[in-house]
Order: sequence, then C-alpha cells, then structure tokens
Amino acid sequence: MSALLAWINDDYGDGIISRKFFENKITDEQKKIAESLRKKINNEIGSFATIKDAMYDTSTIQNDDMLKARANNARTRALSLQWVEGDAAKAETSFFKINKQGTPLDKTEERLLRERAKPIAIAARSIMRAGTGHKYWSNFESEAVSRIEELSNDLNGQLFSPEIKYPVKTLNLPHGGRSSPISAYNLLMDLIAYIVVGTTSVDDKIYIYKVDDDGSSTIRTLEACIKTMKRLTGNEMASLGLHPAVFFYNSNGRHMDTIFLGMIKAVAKAVRDNDSVFFRNFTNRRVTIEKIFLENKSLLNQANSAIYSAKRVEKWAEFIAKTTDESQFGDDFTQEDILEALDLKGKIIASEVEEVGANFSDSTKSAIFLSESIKAAQKCPLCGGYIQVEKSVSYDHIDAKSNGGNGAVSNIQITHPYCNSLKGSD
Ligand SMILES: [Zn+2]
Repeated sequence: MSALLAWINDDYGDGIISRKFFENKITDEQKKIAESLRKKINNEIGSFATIKDAMYDTSTIQNDDMLKARANNARTRALSLQWVEGDAAKAETSFFKINKQGTPLDKTEERLLRERAKPIAIAARSIMRAGTGHKYWSNFESEAVSRIEELSNDLNGQLFSPEIKYPVKTLNLPHGGRSSPISAYNLLMDLIAYIVVGTTSVDDKIYIYKVDDDGSSTIRTLEACIKTMKRLTGNEMASLGLHPAVFFYNSNGRHMDTIFLGMIKAVAKAVRDNDSVFFRNFTNRRVTIEKIFLENKSLLNQANSAIYSAKRVEKWAEFIAKTTDESQFGDDFTQEDILEALDLKGKIIASEVEEVGANFSDSTKSAIFLSESIKAAQKCPLCGGYIQVEKSVSYDHIDAKSNGGNGAVSNIQITHPYCNSLKGSD
C-alpha cells in the first residue's frame, strides 16, 4: 500500500506530503534517494500521472502498446482491501502480522514502531530530525517538549553535522556518519542502548524500554547521550576531540558504524563508572592508538567483516580498551598484534587487493583526499593526537597565565580540550 501510494502521489520521500510531514527539513541524501527511485519507476513502469492520462484519453497513445495495456489494466482491475473490525490494539496486532509476510518490514522500522512510545524510539526519532518535523513527543507538557527539542538538536549536531557528501572533500566529517535514514535510525537506537545500558538486549526493567508518559525518561535518555558524546567531541573541557577521519572512517571515506559504536560503548562505560583512568591512559597512549587506527584501515576493514556481526561492537569496544593498555599494545606493535587483540590471528591475512575500473570512483577520490589531507591536519602539542579543529578545540597558554604568560600569538597553542584541562590540573 505504501509503495502504491508513493507512486500515486509521486512522493518518494520528497513530495508534497513528505515535505509537510518533515516541515521541509529533508536531507540531501533523502532527496537523492527519492529522485533516483522516481527515475527508476518512471522508466520501468511510467508515472501514475501518465497512466492516468492514458486511461482517459487513449487517442494519444495509439502507438504505445505497453502504455495502452497498462492503462487498460488500471481501468479494469481492482485492488481488494480487507477490513478488520476492532480497536487500535487489534489494528496493531494485524499490522505486525501482515507485515511479517510477503515483503516483511525492515527490522529497524519494526523496532521503531514496536518501541514507539518508549524513550529509545522517541529519542532516536527526535535526534534524527534535530528536534524538528513530525513531533512524536508532542503529547508531553510544553516544557518537556522544548527540552527534548533542544537536546536532540545538540545531539544531531554532534553526530551528523555537517551532512557527508561523496566524494569526500573535507576533514570536517560527522562522527556518526549517515548513509541512509534507516541505517542512521539503527545506529541511533544502538547508540542509546550502549550509552544507557551497555548492551542492546531489551530489558523491560530499564527506563529506555518503558513507556514514557510525560517525557521525563526521554529527557533522561537524551541527557545521558549528551554526557557521553561530550567526551568524544565538542569544545567542553572533558572532550577528547576525537578526529572522526582517524577512527570512524575507512580509507574510502565510508563510516565504520561498528567501530564508532565500539568507541561509544567503551567511553560510555568509563563515563558510567566514573573511570578517569580510562581517559588519562587514552591520552597518554594517543599517538600509538591513532597509529593503530589510521595506518591499518584496510586490515581493520577486513577484520570487521571477519567478526560475527552481532559481536562486532563488543569486539571493537574490547579492542579500544586493549589499545589503552601499554602491556597489551607496545609502541612497536605489528599487524599481527592487532589481529591477536581481535582474536583473529591466523584467520585473515592483511591484503590491499581491490577491484578497480578505468574511471576514478567516488571511493578512490575520497581515499586520495583523506590520505593526503590528514597528513596536513593539526596535531595537539600536548598529546600528539590529531585535532578536528572545526568541532573540538581549546586555546592553551603555552606559558601559563599563573606564570605570567600573556595572550600573544607567540604564547597560544591549539590543543584538545581534555589535554588542556589535564595541563591545568597538573
Ligand atoms: Zn591532545
């Protein structure tokens, strides 16, 4: 029915109905997907408007047998609809039952619908839309509504801004990537679960999986997400200011969702446990850790595929914890050490073979941009790690103010916010 309605209304996510639903805030990615689908359908089937015109005026299509046949079918065939009597609960049961057959609902869509009154889905939806568009949270009191919108807008910025475009021509990449709305929803629901609970298994005793009547648990969920994201990016004191191109993108500029979620899981655990040692160790070892991620992208990509998919995030979280431990990862680490830390020793062999055509693909163009420009990226003089200047930066007095240091250009350096805060406390 949805597919037919999209065709009849010529609305594949960018038409009049969609624009109203999303309050005109439709991403370029969504527009691109809608336009390519429209083109495909118009080429292979014809637009509904064409067929409808042909139904009423056959004189114009004498030479087009296919269109004539289609117009005839549209005129003579009926759709059978089934009516079920009952209340909303009955409709819901029927809906999920019907959508398990034929073309089943996408798993993420089903998850969003089933949990729609619970913080995990309300928060994912509000973050995705930066607190705008259709308001799944509009039943709450106005104070809760505006708090939800404010927090979601912040999180959307931390995760998805600026929107990524291919080929990649900027190092200002979003931490959370975003390839399609469905994959972003999946990422968001996992992210929330890893931050709040540390695992994605559903437990009805936990607040993100309980119906939210007044918005308070959605707010609590969003605040927990902000607390963890602030450690990864942003200008606030506790921010490690991780460079996404170093950690979360493969050499072709594609976002590595599982490595990103692994980092989220590791950092969120440290935040929940008040584990300041994790952040200190990470910073002390940052040059080596960044080398592991930046110089072994092809190996990490292969390793990711070799790990059983349900275990990937957990494996990367464990891996990140291991990289902060000097006894497990020396400064002269080898690729074998990486595979061993991932329990993949002997299971895969590092290789650089890839299939290439005659033209430069978006992947190739992105790869050359990323490898060249990261070389020129700013580094933090305190820890030696890369700085994503657009997102996370702190201005440090080289000679401290307390020592009489002044505000001259000669006495300023750009650092990670967290590194600067450590310097202050030492
Ligand atoms: Zn630093």
